[in-house]
Amino acid sequence: MVGIISQPDTLGKLRILSTDAQYDLACACGSGKDEHRKRNGRGGWIYPVTLPNGGKSTLFKTLLSNVCSNDCSYCPLHEGKDIRRCSLRPDETARAFLDYYNRGEVFGLFLSSGVMGSVDTAMEKLLATVRILRKRYQYRGYVHLKVIPGACEAAIEEAVSLSSAVSINIETPGENWLGNVSAKKDFLHDIVAPMKLISKLTGKGQKYHKVKQTTQFVVGAAGESDAEIVKYTGALYERLNLNRVYFSSYQRNHTQSDADTKAGQAETDESLVREHRLYQVDFLLRKYGFSASDIICGSDGNLSLTADPKQVWADAHPEYFPVNVNRATKQQLLKVPGLGPVTVKRILKRRAQSQLYDAEDIGKNTALLEKASGYIAF
Ligand code: SF4
Repeated sequence: MVGIISQPDTLGKLRILSTDAQYDLACACGSGKDEHRKRNGRGGWIYPVTLPNGGKSTLFKTLLSNVCSNDCSYCPLHEGKDIRRCSLRPDETARAFLDYYNRGEVFGLFLSSGVMGSVDTAMEKLLATVRILRKRYQYRGYVHLKVIPGACEAAIEEAVSLSSAVSINIETPGENWLGNVSAKKDFLHDIVAPMKLISKLTGKGQKYHKVKQTTQFVVGAAGESDAEIVKYTGALYERLNLNRVYFSSYQRNHTQSDADTKAGQAETDESLVREHRLYQVDFLLRKYGFSASDIICGSDGNLSLTADPKQVWADAHPEYFPVNVNRATKQQLLKVPGLGPVTVKRILKRRAQSQLYDAEDIGKNTALLEKASGYIAF
């Protein structure tokens, strides 16, 4: 039986719907375990986020509705689940958000929704909310709008025209894996085709080139391997010009005996480490010049749980080291364990002024520089 709350007030609905929004990720660049799911104590719908420029801010993040007619087995909102269901109206959502925005408590809105009856209905309510903000209240700030899988082209185009960022969750690396978790979603038609359309609308030289597109994998629900997720992630950046790819580890609900709970906790811990490793790979692809084919997985197809992917690559390529810090290219330096973009930038700047003779010429003797010292020469 589905529990329905008939008339909760706006704050009551926000409490429920913002909790259900926690696994939808946006603008949260943190790769530490679970840090991107933290919520602000002042209101469960205020989420601290890291902006693309590295600054910190807060987003007002909620679902418009947790009513959903889809069947995604990994999702706590899927049809048939006995949870508290409720919906916010578009005008109610717009006003609630603006209350916080006008007080300077949030910098923007992240809005998603379950599929209330039909995809068209859900998309129309999401779009109506942003239309009210943009047209009635002349709001010009940040909006990240989640596009519902299977949305029609006209709705996608309007979403792009109204938003600062849009996303549609890819969920799995390929249609076979999606088939393991949903009989209703069509991978190519409902997910890939909309992503391609968004990519076309927001491409270089296009009217909406400033609008960002992101997506998200659910990790561990369908039986896929890390290697498949990494391959897809590389292709999404290269072919569809995605701005960011996010990873959300599948959290099974463990409520049985103590033993089950301990086993469940171990599984959850491993799942979060897996998510963390995928974020590290994502950084290597975006910031360190690695390609998906450089990333090394074990015989089970998964990333190491005990060593970070850059270290694994270095251990597998002893012929690459030592790297000469006075002569190596930026890309060569970025492959050295312990050297990140900031340190490499410093090396390039300092060596342009004079020869570098030892680690002290690079910077303070931090643990990372100590790690790098085994891989570099002067
Ligand atoms: S469509 Fe979204 S909200 Fe609905 S069951 Fe699937 S993942 Fe959950």
